[in-house]
Parts: sequence; C-alpha cells; structure tokens
Amino acid sequence: MKNAEVFKAWGRILTGYYPSISIEITRECPLRCPGCYAYEPEHLGEVGPLRSLVDHSGDELIDRFLDLVRRYRPLVVFIVGGEPLVKFRELNVLLPRISDMGIGVQLVTSAVRPIPRAWARIKDLRVVVSVDGLQPEHDERRKPATYERILQNIDGHRINVHCTVTRQMVGREGYFHDFLSFWSARPEVKKVWFSFFTPQLGGKDKENLSSEDRENVLRELVDLRRAFPKFYLPDTVVEGYRKPPQSPDDCIFARTTLSFTADLKSKITPCQFGGKPDCAQCGCMASAGLKAVGDHRLLGVVPLRVLYNASDAIGKATAKIKTF
Ligand code: SF4
Ligand code: SF4
Repeated sequence: MKNAEVFKAWGRILTGYYPSISIEITRECPLRCPGCYAYEPEHLGEVGPLRSLVDHSGDELIDRFLDLVRRYRPLVVFIVGGEPLVKFRELNVLLPRISDMGIGVQLVTSAVRPIPRAWARIKDLRVVVSVDGLQPEHDERRKPATYERILQNIDGHRINVHCTVTRQMVGREGYFHDFLSFWSARPEVKKVWFSFFTPQLGGKDKENLSSEDRENVLRELVDLRRAFPKFYLPDTVVEGYRKPPQSPDDCIFARTTLSFTADLKSKITPCQFGGKPDCAQCGCMASAGLKAVGDHRLLGVVPLRVLYNASDAIGKATAKIKTF
C-alpha cells in the first residue's frame, strides 16, 4: 500500500466509514470446489445457506449494488461469489459505473467463462483468477474451470493469479517453482500471489496444513521470489503469515472491511470467511499484510494497531453522532 492510500484509508476510519467492502454478488457457481467456505453451512450462520438466499438479477441487482456502494462510499470494493461471471451482464454496467465513482474494484473469479473484453479498459479494475495448483490438481478440483478454459477466457486481459495453498500441494519437490514458471511465463499475467487455506475452528478439512507444512512452504516461497519478478510476496505479508491475528478483534482487515452476502443486505461476520474461522491459522493475504502493518511501531514506540484502535473508536463515535 502506498502512503497516500494509507492516509486515505485512515481518513475513512476516522470519519466512521469502512475503507473497503466485500460483496458476494451471487449465490450461484457452476463449480463445486472441495474446501470452498462459501457453501459450508456455517458460512452465513442463521442467515441460511448461501444457495437459499434471494439472487438478484438485471436492473434490480445493479440498483441494489450501487445503493450499497453509495451508502458505504468505500475506497475499494471486492467482488466475490459464488462466481461473479454468472452476473457478467450486470457487471458490464456496474464496473464502469463504480470506476467513474473513483472506487477501485478487485473481482475474484474462476474464469469459467470468457471475461468480457471491455473490462480490460476499465480503470482501477483488478481481475484475480483463482488457480488451485498445477493442472492435474487444479482441473480435478475446479472443473469445469480447467487450465484450458482459463487460458482461453483470459485472452486479451491482464490478470493476477491467486493460488490458495492446501495440504494436497505440499511435500512435492519443485511444486511451487513449477507453478510460478507456468503462470509467470503467460503474457496475460501481471502478478502471482499465494494465500493459505484457512480452516474453521476445529475443522478437519483435507486441505488443512500443519504449522510445519506452512512454515516449509513459506520458506520455499521466500526463496523463489528472486527468480520470479511477477511473484508478489512482500516481507510484511510473510511476517503476517508467520504471526496471524489471534482473533477477529485483533484482525485489522476484518475490522476495516464490511462483507455482504448475495441478498445484498445480510452481513458476513466476522470476516469474508464467515462462521468461526480459526484466526491463528489464517491464510488470508490481506489480513497478513495488515497484521504486520498494525504491529509496526510508529517512531519505534507506539504500535500502529494502538493508533488504529483509537481512530476506529473516534470514527464509530462520529458516525453515531451523525446519525443522532
Ligand atoms: S469457484 Fe469459488 S465460490 Fe465457486 S465453488 Fe469454487 S471456491 Fe466456491
Ligand atoms: S481474515 Fe483471518 S484473521 Fe481476520 S478474522 Fe478472518 S480468519 Fe480471522
């Protein structure tokens, strides 16, 4: 994050707003990825399973989505699913409108269908394609969004590749090297980054990594940075992965990002994962990056987290006064 962006975000916090909002734009997804948190029963708690929610379409979706953005006036909107491309027609209208409002968008997709060509010209739109490992594992987990389809569907775009490291990828020599070689060589790819699978408290998913697995992968990734300039893994994030927040209250990302599900009114708590995520094993890159920022000591004395907590309290009090 650049200094100017940090000050802007801080300004939002001080005035009682959230710097970012995350929206599950649809309940639908043609994939059935193992370990997907969005369709787990605990994701939305009492709000109900994601597939049981109302799924808005057409003008209604566009209007409700823009109402949310206008109400919260974030600096960034994360669009997730379900699969956002299910709503590509509505996004064809929404994305340029949000860009005209001066708000950045990060859209996370499986690239199961072609990404509309016009999106490549939208200012401050970042398209992130999820790729779960090398082709054999990925195709098995994420069909019909196979490698072959992704390569066809990102044609003409500049995208970022995001890979969630799972247990299935560890202990195999050269795995991450080969992954980085493949995706770094693609002209459509701007950056590649990794997060780690985040379990729910007490979760027994096959994707879970042991702390030893996680440390081994981290060390391997740190060593690979020099060989692959498109690989994005700042030291702050490495630090955050090593010492994740211990609870949602300790997580600056969760506290600065408001998450909404597909009915466009129910909130997902405590963070985008919903349910009761195991923060101590959090693999979210944004959370890791902000954890390290929070731990940073201003003038070597005051941790920025303390300053953040004070600013957040002022902001929330200001928001209450405004609604009086
Ligand atoms: S593409 Fe995303 S939302 Fe769809 S099943 Fe896979 S992980 Fe879940
Ligand atoms: S993003 Fe990670 S650390 Fe933050 S609340 Fe969610 S699971 Fe916990």
